[in-house]
Amino acid sequence: MKITDLKVAIIGNAPVVRITTDEGIDGVGAGETAKPYLKPMIEFYRDMVVGKDPTDVERVMLGIRRMGSFKPWGTAVSAIEMALWDIAGKAAGLPTYKLLGGKIRDKVQVYNGNVRYEMEGDGREPEDFAKNMQKMKDHPYNFSIIKQAVSFHGGMQNREGFYYGTPVTQGRYPNRGTITPKGFKYLISVVEAMLDVLGDDVGLALDCGPGMTVPDALKFAKELEGSNIMWLEDMVTGDYSPFVLADLYTQITPYTSTPIHTGEQIYLRQNFVELIERNAVNVLGPDVADVGGIAEMKFIAEYADLHGILFAPHGTFDGLIGLAAQTHLAAVLPENYIAFELPQAKPEWWLDIMDGGDQFAVTDSHIDVPSTPGLGLTFIPEETKKYLREEDADFFDN
Ligand SMILES: [Mg+2]
Repeated sequence: MKITDLKVAIIGNAPVVRITTDEGIDGVGAGETAKPYLKPMIEFYRDMVVGKDPTDVERVMLGIRRMGSFKPWGTAVSAIEMALWDIAGKAAGLPTYKLLGGKIRDKVQVYNGNVRYEMEGDGREPEDFAKNMQKMKDHPYNFSIIKQAVSFHGGMQNREGFYYGTPVTQGRYPNRGTITPKGFKYLISVVEAMLDVLGDDVGLALDCGPGMTVPDALKFAKELEGSNIMWLEDMVTGDYSPFVLADLYTQITPYTSTPIHTGEQIYLRQNFVELIERNAVNVLGPDVADVGGIAEMKFIAEYADLHGILFAPHGTFDGLIGLAAQTHLAAVLPENYIAFELPQAKPEWWLDIMDGGDQFAVTDSHIDVPSTPGLGLTFIPEETKKYLREEDADFFDN
């Protein structure tokens, strides 16, 4: 089998790749739902994959992997990798997880991820967080773990007197600094309000930065000891940090019983070596649409497991195709797997343009692992064409 073309369309707002072959089988992959600007980045790899056998996934990946980088630039390589596994599965008549070693669980656990509600109230006071948490707890998906953004990840830097610094509100600006005594008290009161709502029924995870200093991160983690927090995510580095800095985490993680988490921005297994071998964190959370793909992530999870490190993958913006990739991956991960961050088919018409989307429905915080070939999703061209942009009109040609 040979790859004949690589096509990219912006569907909704997500870059979607479709790889075609000379045997009529095609495969799909996608990047995060708000990254339409990556279209040319994915197309950049076309000449490097056309003519290759897509079922030799690793061989194709060796040809393109070195041309990617940390978030958002690892998305292109990751989306192509998903599409290759989709083809390989369809060609074998097997679900993709069978080619990754086979599933070790029939259903995979997810946490709320993309299921969120706008915060009510203008003060973002502890009671506002409590009300918001109650809504998520009451969601029909019956989540077993719920994550909430706090500290620098939750915009708290914009609250008067939260930290010793002047926040810049421009998107992705790396605000960071020392939290004031008043700010710290507020942060703790917010967490306590949410813990009160969740009780012992649901685990609370907190996405915290990046932006916290090492001393604040350790102070925060120690203050929360004994309250069964699932993990503190990205306190000092994280989302869109184009570096790892394991040394910062080795000043925190060994000194607290609260689990410390990072990894969603990191590209490739090599960039996890320090974090893993030095036990710099307790939980890793790469994103299948950023790290380099499904098999890349499995390798990292296996290596992390050998070092006593847990795995809770990022994925909130990965859309329906990312949801399928995450489900296949989670089915084969070792027992260090906790739960992945649930993406959603948004807008909801995604479920109308792809066959198989309904297989990934959530019941009691779990998704049943499907048994259809490949990733289990197939575009319905007539339906999808309603949402294609003019420049992508040839997405389904050949
Ligand atoms: Mg995060």
